Amino acid sequence: MTLLKDKILGGLYGQALGDAWGMPAYFDFDQTQAAFGPFITQFYPAPADHEVHSGLPAGRITDDSEQAFSLAQAYIAAGGVTLAATAAAIIAWYDRTGGDTSLYVGPSTRRGVQALKRGEDPQRTGRMGDTNGAAMRVSVVGLLYPGDPIGAIEAAAISALPTHGTNVAMSGACAVAAAVAVALRPDATLDAIIAGGMLGAEIGRQRGTRWIGASVTQRIQMAVEIARKGTPPLARLREIYDRVGTSLSIVDTVGAAFGVLAMAEGDPQQTAIYGATLSGDADTVAAIACAMAGAYRGLGAFAPAVLAVLDADPVMQSYGVPALADGLLALAQKGRA
Ligand SMILES: [Mg+2]
Repeated sequence: MTLLKDKILGGLYGQALGDAWGMPAYFDFDQTQAAFGPFITQFYPAPADHEVHSGLPAGRITDDSEQAFSLAQAYIAAGGVTLAATAAAIIAWYDRTGGDTSLYVGPSTRRGVQALKRGEDPQRTGRMGDTNGAAMRVSVVGLLYPGDPIGAIEAAAISALPTHGTNVAMSGACAVAAAVAVALRPDATLDAIIAGGMLGAEIGRQRGTRWIGASVTQRIQMAVEIARKGTPPLARLREIYDRVGTSLSIVDTVGAAFGVLAMAEGDPQQTAIYGATLSGDADTVAAIACAMAGAYRGLGAFAPAVLAVLDADPVMQSYGVPALADGLLALAQKGRA
Protein backbone atom coordinates (compact mmCIF):
# COMPACT_ATOMS: atom_id res chain seq x y z
CA MET A 1 0.00 0.00 0.00
CA THR A 2 1.29 3.48 -0.82
CA LEU A 3 1.78 6.01 1.97
CA LEU A 4 -0.98 8.22 0.55
CA LYS A 5 -3.47 5.33 0.45
CA ASP A 6 -2.59 4.49 4.07
CA LYS A 7 -3.18 8.10 5.08
CA ILE A 8 -6.51 8.37 3.23
CA LEU A 9 -7.69 5.16 4.92
CA GLY A 10 -6.42 6.61 8.20
CA GLY A 11 -8.51 9.73 7.67
CA LEU A 12 -11.67 7.71 6.93
CA TYR A 13 -11.21 5.26 9.81
CA GLY A 14 -10.18 8.12 12.09
CA GLN A 15 -13.47 9.86 11.36
CA ALA A 16 -15.33 6.68 12.34
CA LEU A 17 -13.15 5.92 15.36
CA GLY A 18 -13.64 9.32 16.98
CA ASP A 19 -17.35 9.28 16.19
CA ALA A 20 -18.02 5.83 17.69
CA TRP A 21 -15.63 6.32 20.64
CA GLY A 22 -17.21 9.67 21.56
CA MET A 23 -20.82 8.54 20.96
CA PRO A 24 -21.56 7.38 24.57
CA ALA A 25 -20.07 10.48 26.30
CA TYR A 26 -22.54 12.76 28.04
CA PHE A 27 -22.83 16.46 27.25
CA ASP A 28 -21.70 17.36 30.77
CA PHE A 29 -18.08 16.76 31.74
CA ASP A 30 -18.83 15.66 35.32
CA GLN A 31 -21.60 13.31 34.19
CA THR A 32 -19.16 11.61 31.82
CA GLN A 33 -16.61 11.38 34.63
CA ALA A 34 -19.17 9.73 36.94
CA ALA A 35 -20.18 7.18 34.31
CA PHE A 36 -16.90 6.43 32.52
CA GLY A 37 -14.08 8.32 34.27
CA PRO A 38 -11.37 9.18 34.42
CA PHE A 39 -10.90 8.37 30.69
CA ILE A 40 -13.08 6.66 28.09
CA THR A 41 -10.70 3.88 27.08
CA GLN A 42 -12.93 1.53 25.09
CA PHE A 43 -16.01 1.45 22.85
CA TYR A 44 -19.15 1.68 25.00
CA PRO A 45 -22.85 1.51 24.15
CA ALA A 46 -24.74 4.76 24.76
CA PRO A 47 -26.17 5.07 28.28
CA ALA A 48 -29.94 4.51 28.43
CA ASP A 49 -30.49 8.12 29.52
CA HIS A 50 -28.35 9.67 26.76
CA GLU A 51 -30.42 12.46 25.17
CA VAL A 52 -29.34 11.76 21.58
CA HIS A 53 -27.67 8.34 21.39
CA SER A 54 -29.77 6.18 23.73
CA GLY A 55 -30.08 2.69 22.27
CA LEU A 56 -26.93 2.75 20.15
CA PRO A 57 -24.57 -0.22 20.57
CA ALA A 58 -20.82 -0.02 21.22
CA GLY A 59 -18.81 0.82 18.10
CA ARG A 60 -21.69 2.46 16.22
CA ILE A 61 -20.92 5.47 14.03
CA THR A 62 -23.37 8.41 13.92
CA ASP A 63 -24.42 11.28 11.66
CA ASP A 64 -20.90 12.73 11.51
CA SER A 65 -19.39 9.76 9.69
CA GLU A 66 -22.58 8.94 7.79
CA GLN A 67 -22.61 12.42 6.26
CA ALA A 68 -18.86 12.43 5.61
CA PHE A 69 -19.01 9.05 3.86
CA SER A 70 -22.14 10.10 1.94
CA LEU A 71 -20.25 13.13 0.64
CA ALA A 72 -17.28 10.95 -0.30
CA GLN A 73 -19.57 8.69 -2.34
CA ALA A 74 -21.17 11.69 -4.03
CA TYR A 75 -17.87 13.40 -4.89
CA ILE A 76 -16.42 10.18 -6.30
CA ALA A 77 -19.52 9.77 -8.49
CA ALA A 78 -19.48 13.44 -9.55
CA GLY A 79 -15.73 13.47 -10.23
CA GLY A 80 -15.15 16.29 -7.72
CA VAL A 81 -16.66 18.57 -5.10
CA THR A 82 -19.73 20.34 -6.48
CA LEU A 83 -22.61 22.21 -4.91
CA ALA A 84 -25.16 19.95 -6.59
CA ALA A 85 -23.47 16.75 -5.39
CA THR A 86 -23.24 18.13 -1.86
CA ALA A 87 -26.90 19.14 -1.70
CA ALA A 88 -28.10 15.86 -3.20
CA ALA A 89 -25.97 13.77 -0.81
CA ILE A 90 -27.14 15.61 2.30
CA ILE A 91 -30.80 15.43 1.27
CA ALA A 92 -30.46 11.70 0.49
CA TRP A 93 -28.84 11.06 3.88
CA TYR A 94 -31.56 13.08 5.63
CA ASP A 95 -34.35 11.12 3.97
CA ARG A 96 -32.63 7.75 4.44
CA THR A 97 -32.27 8.31 8.20
CA GLY A 98 -35.74 9.78 8.80
CA GLY A 99 -34.39 13.30 9.21
CA ASP A 100 -37.70 14.98 9.99
CA THR A 101 -37.93 13.14 13.31
CA SER A 102 -34.30 12.13 13.92
CA LEU A 103 -32.46 13.53 16.94
CA TYR A 104 -29.26 13.21 14.91
CA VAL A 105 -29.97 16.09 12.57
CA GLY A 106 -28.43 19.37 13.67
CA PRO A 107 -30.26 22.70 13.46
CA SER A 108 -28.41 24.11 10.43
CA THR A 109 -28.62 20.88 8.45
CA ARG A 110 -32.36 20.60 9.13
CA ARG A 111 -32.98 24.21 8.13
CA GLY A 112 -30.86 23.86 4.99
CA VAL A 113 -32.37 20.57 3.88
CA GLN A 114 -35.92 21.81 4.39
CA ALA A 115 -35.16 24.93 2.31
CA LEU A 116 -33.53 22.83 -0.41
CA LYS A 117 -36.62 20.61 -0.50
CA ARG A 118 -38.79 23.69 -0.96
CA GLY A 119 -36.75 24.36 -4.09
CA GLU A 120 -34.81 27.35 -2.76
CA ASP A 121 -31.45 28.37 -4.25
CA PRO A 122 -28.62 26.21 -2.77
CA GLN A 123 -26.44 29.33 -2.79
CA ARG A 124 -28.81 30.76 -0.14
CA THR A 125 -30.26 27.80 1.79
CA GLY A 126 -27.36 27.74 4.21
CA ARG A 127 -27.13 31.47 4.81
CA MET A 128 -27.90 31.20 8.53
CA GLY A 129 -26.10 27.89 9.19
CA ASP A 130 -23.51 28.40 11.91
CA THR A 131 -23.33 25.10 13.81
CA ASN A 132 -20.79 22.30 13.52
CA GLY A 133 -22.26 20.11 10.75
CA ALA A 134 -20.08 21.66 8.06
CA ALA A 135 -16.93 20.71 9.97
CA MET A 136 -18.06 17.23 11.07
CA ARG A 137 -18.46 16.04 7.46
CA VAL A 138 -15.61 17.91 5.72
CA SER A 139 -12.62 15.66 6.40
CA VAL A 140 -13.32 13.78 3.15
CA VAL A 141 -12.89 17.03 1.21
CA GLY A 142 -9.42 17.44 2.69
CA LEU A 143 -8.62 13.85 1.67
CA LEU A 144 -9.11 14.88 -1.99
CA TYR A 145 -6.35 17.52 -1.80
CA PRO A 146 -3.18 15.87 -0.50
CA GLY A 147 -0.63 18.58 0.29
CA ASP A 148 -2.89 21.29 -1.17
CA PRO A 149 -4.59 23.23 1.64
CA ILE A 150 -5.69 26.04 -0.71
CA GLY A 151 -7.47 23.57 -2.99
CA ALA A 152 -9.06 21.96 0.08
CA ILE A 153 -10.24 25.34 1.37
CA GLU A 154 -11.93 26.24 -1.93
CA ALA A 155 -13.68 22.88 -2.06
CA ALA A 156 -14.65 23.00 1.64
CA ALA A 157 -16.43 26.31 1.08
CA ILE A 158 -18.51 24.64 -1.65
CA SER A 159 -19.26 21.64 0.55
CA ALA A 160 -20.44 23.88 3.41
CA LEU A 161 -22.58 26.24 1.34
CA PRO A 162 -25.99 24.54 1.00
CA THR A 163 -26.46 24.10 4.77
CA HIS A 164 -23.69 26.10 6.47
CA GLY A 165 -23.13 29.22 4.38
CA THR A 166 -22.12 31.68 7.10
CA ASN A 167 -18.57 32.95 7.38
CA VAL A 168 -18.44 31.39 10.85
CA ALA A 169 -19.22 27.91 9.51
CA MET A 170 -17.01 28.35 6.45
CA SER A 171 -14.15 29.25 8.77
CA GLY A 172 -14.57 26.04 10.79
CA ALA A 173 -15.05 23.80 7.75
CA CYS A 174 -12.10 25.26 5.85
CA ALA A 175 -9.88 24.89 8.93
CA VAL A 176 -10.53 21.15 9.13
CA ALA A 177 -10.22 20.52 5.38
CA ALA A 178 -6.95 22.43 5.17
CA ALA A 179 -5.52 20.61 8.18
CA VAL A 180 -6.40 17.22 6.66
CA ALA A 181 -4.82 18.24 3.33
CA VAL A 182 -1.59 19.17 5.13
CA ALA A 183 -1.71 15.99 7.24
CA LEU A 184 -1.56 13.90 4.03
CA ARG A 185 1.91 15.20 3.19
CA PRO A 186 4.60 12.53 3.66
CA ASP A 187 6.59 14.97 5.82
CA ALA A 188 3.63 16.43 7.76
CA THR A 189 4.22 17.69 11.29
CA LEU A 190 1.67 18.51 13.95
CA ASP A 191 2.70 22.17 13.90
CA ALA A 192 2.21 22.30 10.12
CA ILE A 193 -1.24 20.71 10.45
CA ILE A 194 -2.27 23.25 13.09
CA ALA A 195 -0.89 26.11 10.98
CA GLY A 196 -2.82 24.76 7.99
CA GLY A 197 -5.97 24.74 10.12
CA MET A 198 -5.48 28.36 11.13
CA LEU A 199 -4.86 29.34 7.49
CA GLY A 200 -8.10 27.63 6.51
CA ALA A 201 -9.96 29.35 9.35
CA GLU A 202 -8.75 32.78 8.19
CA ILE A 203 -9.53 32.27 4.49
CA GLY A 204 -12.87 30.60 5.27
CA ARG A 205 -13.90 33.55 7.43
CA GLN A 206 -13.76 35.73 4.33
CA ARG A 207 -16.36 33.52 2.60
CA GLY A 208 -20.09 33.19 3.03
CA THR A 209 -22.77 35.27 4.70
CA ARG A 210 -21.53 37.73 7.32
CA TRP A 211 -22.65 36.27 10.64
CA ILE A 212 -22.08 36.33 14.41
CA GLY A 213 -19.22 34.30 15.82
CA ALA A 214 -15.88 34.35 17.56
CA SER A 215 -12.64 33.70 15.68
CA VAL A 216 -12.01 30.03 14.89
CA THR A 217 -8.32 30.85 14.47
CA GLN A 218 -8.03 32.27 17.97
CA ARG A 219 -10.08 29.42 19.43
CA ILE A 220 -7.67 26.91 17.84
CA GLN A 221 -4.77 28.88 19.27
CA MET A 222 -6.32 28.91 22.75
CA ALA A 223 -7.06 25.18 22.65
CA VAL A 224 -3.55 24.27 21.52
CA GLU A 225 -2.03 26.47 24.25
CA ILE A 226 -4.10 24.67 26.89
CA ALA A 227 -3.25 21.30 25.31
CA ARG A 228 0.48 21.99 25.68
CA LYS A 229 0.40 23.09 29.32
CA GLY A 230 2.20 21.02 31.94
CA THR A 231 -0.97 20.26 33.95
CA PRO A 232 -2.37 16.69 34.14
CA PRO A 233 -4.32 15.55 31.03
CA LEU A 234 -7.69 15.51 32.81
CA ALA A 235 -7.14 19.09 34.03
CA ARG A 236 -6.30 20.18 30.49
CA LEU A 237 -9.44 18.52 29.13
CA ARG A 238 -11.55 20.24 31.77
CA GLU A 239 -9.93 23.57 30.86
CA ILE A 240 -10.71 23.02 27.15
CA TYR A 241 -14.31 22.13 28.12
CA ASP A 242 -14.64 25.24 30.30
CA ARG A 243 -12.82 27.82 28.19
CA VAL A 244 -12.85 26.67 24.55
CA GLY A 245 -16.22 24.95 24.81
CA THR A 246 -17.67 21.81 23.23
CA SER A 247 -21.16 22.94 22.22
CA LEU A 248 -22.76 22.69 18.76
CA SER A 249 -21.10 26.03 17.91
CA ILE A 250 -18.61 25.33 15.14
CA VAL A 251 -16.16 27.72 16.79
CA ASP A 252 -16.17 25.62 19.96
CA THR A 253 -16.10 22.31 18.13
CA VAL A 254 -13.22 23.05 15.79
CA GLY A 255 -11.16 24.76 18.47
CA ALA A 256 -11.64 21.80 20.83
CA ALA A 257 -10.82 19.30 18.07
CA PHE A 258 -7.43 20.90 17.45
CA GLY A 259 -6.88 20.95 21.22
CA VAL A 260 -7.35 17.20 21.68
CA LEU A 261 -5.33 16.49 18.52
CA ALA A 262 -2.43 18.47 19.99
CA MET A 263 -2.83 16.88 23.44
CA ALA A 264 -2.58 13.43 21.89
CA GLU A 265 0.32 14.50 19.66
CA GLY A 266 -1.65 13.27 16.69
CA ASP A 267 -2.01 9.64 17.78
CA PRO A 268 -5.46 8.52 16.57
CA GLN A 269 -6.28 6.25 19.52
CA GLN A 270 -5.18 8.77 22.14
CA THR A 271 -7.07 11.50 20.28
CA ALA A 272 -10.23 9.37 20.51
CA ILE A 273 -9.72 8.85 24.24
CA TYR A 274 -9.25 12.55 24.90
CA GLY A 275 -11.98 13.67 22.52
CA ALA A 276 -14.54 11.33 24.07
CA THR A 277 -13.58 12.16 27.64
CA LEU A 278 -13.90 15.86 26.79
CA SER A 279 -17.73 15.41 26.67
CA GLY A 280 -20.06 18.00 25.12
CA ASP A 281 -20.63 17.22 21.44
CA ALA A 282 -17.97 14.58 21.95
CA ASP A 283 -18.65 12.37 18.95
CA THR A 284 -18.29 15.36 16.62
CA VAL A 285 -15.19 16.82 18.28
CA ALA A 286 -13.56 13.39 18.36
CA ALA A 287 -14.57 12.53 14.78
CA ILE A 288 -12.98 15.73 13.46
CA ALA A 289 -9.87 15.39 15.61
CA CYS A 290 -9.38 11.69 14.81
CA ALA A 291 -9.87 12.26 11.07
CA MET A 292 -6.98 14.74 11.22
CA ALA A 293 -4.93 12.33 13.35
CA GLY A 294 -5.65 9.41 11.04
CA ALA A 295 -4.64 11.37 7.95
CA TYR A 296 -1.44 12.33 9.77
CA ARG A 297 -0.42 8.93 11.14
CA GLY A 298 -2.12 6.63 8.62
CA LEU A 299 -4.11 3.43 9.08
CA GLY A 300 -1.00 1.66 10.36
CA ALA A 301 -1.32 3.64 13.61
CA PHE A 302 -4.66 1.98 14.45
CA ALA A 303 -4.89 -1.18 16.57
CA PRO A 304 -6.27 -4.11 14.50
CA ALA A 305 -8.78 -4.94 17.24
CA VAL A 306 -10.20 -1.42 17.08
CA LEU A 307 -10.48 -1.55 13.29
CA ALA A 308 -12.24 -4.92 13.62
CA VAL A 309 -14.93 -3.36 15.84
CA LEU A 310 -15.50 -0.55 13.34
CA ASP A 311 -15.60 -2.98 10.42
CA ALA A 312 -18.21 -5.07 12.25
CA ASP A 313 -20.64 -2.14 12.56
CA PRO A 314 -23.43 -2.63 9.99
CA VAL A 315 -23.81 1.13 9.47
CA MET A 316 -20.08 1.43 8.77
CA GLN A 317 -20.28 -1.60 6.45
CA SER A 318 -23.09 0.00 4.47
CA TYR A 319 -20.73 2.78 3.33
CA GLY A 320 -17.96 0.50 2.00
CA VAL A 321 -15.11 2.53 3.44
CA PRO A 322 -12.21 0.63 1.80
CA ALA A 323 -13.76 1.29 -1.63
CA LEU A 324 -14.25 4.94 -0.69
CA ALA A 325 -10.51 5.19 -0.03
CA ASP A 326 -9.80 3.81 -3.51
CA GLY A 327 -12.23 6.26 -5.09
CA LEU A 328 -10.86 9.25 -3.19
CA LEU A 329 -7.29 8.26 -4.00
CA ALA A 330 -8.04 7.94 -7.72
CA LEU A 331 -9.79 11.31 -7.74
CA ALA A 332 -7.02 13.02 -5.77
CA GLN A 333 -4.41 11.66 -8.14
CA LYS A 334 -6.29 12.82 -11.20
CA GLY A 335 -5.92 16.33 -9.82
CA ARG A 336 -9.41 17.22 -10.94
CA ALA A 337 -11.12 17.05 -7.57
MG1 LIG B 1 -22.93 12.61 15.86
